Amino acid sequence: MQEKKHVPKATLERLSLYYKTLQNLDNEEVVTTSAIELAEILDIKPEKIRKDLSMVGKFGMKGLGYDVIHLKTNIANILGLQNYWRLAIIGVGNLGAALANYEKISDWGFVIAALFDIDENKIGEEINGVRVYDFKKFASISRRKLIDIGVIAVPDDAAQKVADTLIAAGVKGIWNFTAVQIDAPKNIKVVDENLMTGLSALSFYLNQNSN
Ligand code: ATP
Repeated sequence: MQEKKHVPKATLERLSLYYKTLQNLDNEEVVTTSAIELAEILDIKPEKIRKDLSMVGKFGMKGLGYDVIHLKTNIANILGLQNYWRLAIIGVGNLGAALANYEKISDWGFVIAALFDIDENKIGEEINGVRVYDFKKFASISRRKLIDIGVIAVPDDAAQKVADTLIAAGVKGIWNFTAVQIDAPKNIKVVDENLMTGLSALSFYLNQNSN
């Protein structure tokens, strides 16, 4: 939780400029930036940028610059721009792709931040503006994209291995669309969305009514 403190209006205005710039850098897949780079883009003195950022939190490490996504997310929180849970969908077959295309998800405070697959033909593609990454790189990309929740939409036989990777990478929750019972430590929330359970229930009720 960010501590509430007084931030002058002029600083807030500059923060929204930094936010927009960081968003552009993130879209260009830039991972880290510096006060000097931001200063060049925005024509603001680097000292001022460092001072602004130090006023709103502890960002960046000496000599290493700022992590673009981390800084962007923190500024967004300060400005009250977003308070979204960030999802990654693993497996962009028919089901995963349909979820990726489901725009109403943002109405509920979720954002689909990354997609993953192992199929070479799908890696590098975009669905609804979100890129499909190689699942082998899940640990590093989920850290960069600040993933909170992993959505499992792979075939059943791959489900537990995928879950193990998500858990090792530090996701907080799993939305499981497979029929497999996921084995996870107690601190990881797993919610099952077994579509066949719903259909089986319907089949049961329809059968009862026709008897
Ligand atoms: P759907 O099942 O959604 O109708 P589909 O038949 O195209 O789609 P599935 O075989 O169910 O595909 O697999 C769903 C997706 O999961 C595919 O895109 C597949 O490449 C991907 N996938 C399979 N195994 C893994 C894995 N271990 N890690 C990540 N993705 C995987």
